[in-house]
Amino acid sequence: MSLVVIGSVAYDGVQTPHGSVDRMLGGSCTYIALSASYYTPVSIVGVVGGDFAQEDVDLLTSRNIGVEGLERVPGKTFFWKGVYSEDMNDRTTLQTDLNVFADFNPKLPETYKSAPYLFLGNIQPDLQRGVREQMKQASLVGGDTMNLWIDIARAALLETLKGWDFLLINDGEARMLSGETNLKRAAAKILEMGPKILVIKRGEYGAVLFTPHFHFMAPGYLLDRVFDPTGAGDCFAGGFMGYLASLGLDAAAAATRKQELSRAVISGSVMGSFCCEQFGVDRFRTLTRQEIDARFEEFQAFTGF
Ligand code: AMP
Repeated sequence: MSLVVIGSVAYDGVQTPHGSVDRMLGGSCTYIALSASYYTPVSIVGVVGGDFAQEDVDLLTSRNIGVEGLERVPGKTFFWKGVYSEDMNDRTTLQTDLNVFADFNPKLPETYKSAPYLFLGNIQPDLQRGVREQMKQASLVGGDTMNLWIDIARAALLETLKGWDFLLINDGEARMLSGETNLKRAAAKILEMGPKILVIKRGEYGAVLFTPHFHFMAPGYLLDRVFDPTGAGDCFAGGFMGYLASLGLDAAAAATRKQELSRAVISGSVMGSFCCEQFGVDRFRTLTRQEIDARFEEFQAFTGF
């Protein structure tokens, strides 16, 4: 096993201008793992309830994702419901039922502990730190967070970030975390908090990667139709991390390789764009490596000059 991913495994209800689904497989861990599985072997750590369907486990294992760390406990699986605006740039959360996720205490199977790569999905920062401390041999570690933790668990988050090599967040969160409205200054401040690689995601407008020495800007992929953006940020994370893991890079090497980091950002953009093409995780039921490679080349064609 190469990459360990931790985060929420959920059922989602989603409404977009193209339709709605009452209940489907979701969760940050699910999206990150499915996306990264096209690049590197992945194992997950998460918790689900007794209602979690075997067919959803089967989707994960069909992508060779290790589920030994997917704990099943009595109760209901985490449920999240959201509705998107007409242009799909805004999302309103309608319902969050933490259910079994409320008492999530990540347990790492022994076999996971020697994995070289760790992605810490968006959960309480102290839990993220606990997992990081159990994976002493990990050579490239990063993750994401959200406005909730920046707001209510800031001290814990700052302590946690000290142990990370990279951080992925969106522009609003970067401004909130740094206290700077200017994105460049926000990035400079965050790079002093621990991670030496920072990716600021800007939704449909793409992403910017910062290190102390260089930055790289990628546009978003122009889709004919965005069906459902849920999970796009997580799929970006899976493509970014999966690509770096596929090269066998550790943190020190990754931080100096501008070309490889740039390609990791494009891999993230490619995977995020595929995610939006169908509802929920559906695109991953048919997506092939050939389609991923073709879209990567398209990116090269429309950004080169
Ligand atoms: P994204 O669209 O990339 O922000 O990720 C959407 C996924 O995040 C959905 O599948 C949800 O199940 C999951 N999610 C929503 N709220 C939370 C939360 N508070 N903690 C963990 N996961 C969440």
